[in-house]
Amino acid sequence: MHPDLVNELSFLRDIGFTHLDVKPAVHSNSELEELGVIAAGCTKCRLSESRTQVVWGVGNPHADLMFIGEAPGRDEDLKGEPFVGKAGQLLTDIIKAMKLTRELVYIANVIKCRPPENRNPEVDELDACRPYIQRQVELIQPKVIVALGKFGLQSLTQKTYSISSVRGEWLEYNGIKLMPTWHPAYLLRTPDAKKDVWNDMKKVMAILGIAV
Ligand code: URA
Repeated sequence: MHPDLVNELSFLRDIGFTHLDVKPAVHSNSELEELGVIAAGCTKCRLSESRTQVVWGVGNPHADLMFIGEAPGRDEDLKGEPFVGKAGQLLTDIIKAMKLTRELVYIANVIKCRPPENRNPEVDELDACRPYIQRQVELIQPKVIVALGKFGLQSLTQKTYSISSVRGEWLEYNGIKLMPTWHPAYLLRTPDAKKDVWNDMKKVMAILGIAV
């Protein structure tokens, strides 16, 4: 058996899978995609009962920059892609302002299925889903992660940071530079906070060698 497959199966066993329900016709060309295919059938928490589909992640599997948000909303649940609604449009504008594109970065959430009525994710849902984002980061190995909002930050780091106290400060996740910033949905409600995010993104651009 290929060592990548052995790794992947061991990972799935460790996070609690006892069987796999994968269509044999599915073809994918990377461990990241294969894991996405497996996650598409995930039933580890109650969110699987109400979702339209799992929202895995999108972008460059070798990205230097990864954005990590909270959970899919209605638009994302319908389209199967993170950050495609109003907050997503704002994130896309932020990415463009950084002289990047959605295709060059990688975008994912700590929760892969839409919580009903966009309620906050529960602790057990965050716990059940965390291995996916951890593995996504491990496989992508970005130079920088931007955590969008409290849930993205807290679930990834498993620390109880408040976003307002650490926003704009460099943190670290498994040796990767981590920049916490406001969630785009918060920016829609509080446009004055956009300047904070821009200051934070300028720090990210400096690390990535992008001229402001
Ligand atoms: N908010 C998020 O945190 N993630 C999305 O994908 C969309 C909105």
